[in-house]
Amino acid sequence: MPVDQPLVETRCPSCGAPQETTASSCTACGFNLDLAKQRFGAIPRYGIHVTDSTEAVLTLSEYRGIERRLKQFENQFPQSRFSVFFTAMLPGQKLEDYTFWLFNSCHFTPFDSKLSNNFALLLTVDLQSRSACLMIGYGLEPYLSASDLEALAGRGLPAFRKARYADGARAIIAAVGAELRKRIREREPGLPARVPASAAPSPS
Ligand SMILES: [Zn+2]
Repeated sequence: MPVDQPLVETRCPSCGAPQETTASSCTACGFNLDLAKQRFGAIPRYGIHVTDSTEAVLTLSEYRGIERRLKQFENQFPQSRFSVFFTAMLPGQKLEDYTFWLFNSCHFTPFDSKLSNNFALLLTVDLQSRSACLMIGYGLEPYLSASDLEALAGRGLPAFRKARYADGARAIIAAVGAELRKRIREREPGLPARVPASAAPSPS
């Protein structure tokens, strides 16, 4: 099976060790997709935009609110697909491993999304550790680094600590949108990022 996001470019998704671009397994810890498949078993049921695999964390209005924001995100970044997955890791499981596995096992994006054409984003929120992990496709790597992703996922922590998981996810989605707009402008000043009318400066 082709891997949307193999162990390349920067770091192993599991242990963070730097990786060669050709590595199929992490040279430091041995992590790879097959290992993750063995570890996590059957692919869970999931929605394209929002999944509450715990079936307990989101109210219906929270679910719809997050879904609405993710659709707005796609209006701003039409090649993109942003999915949010709420879960509760078991002891000994790593959210980074799980996120990598989900990213590569679920078909969140309808596009021909292999490698550099992959502009997908996956945010996993773990009720167990009260933390989040953000993973992106290759197409977005020129815009967001591994430390950017870590910082952005951290934007949910104040809310997660209070067990306000939907609020935390919303904060992260907003921060990702703002950061991506900024980075697109920096890299491609001639191509303004698509900004929704409501966020555009009002004429004066
Ligand atoms: Zn590793």
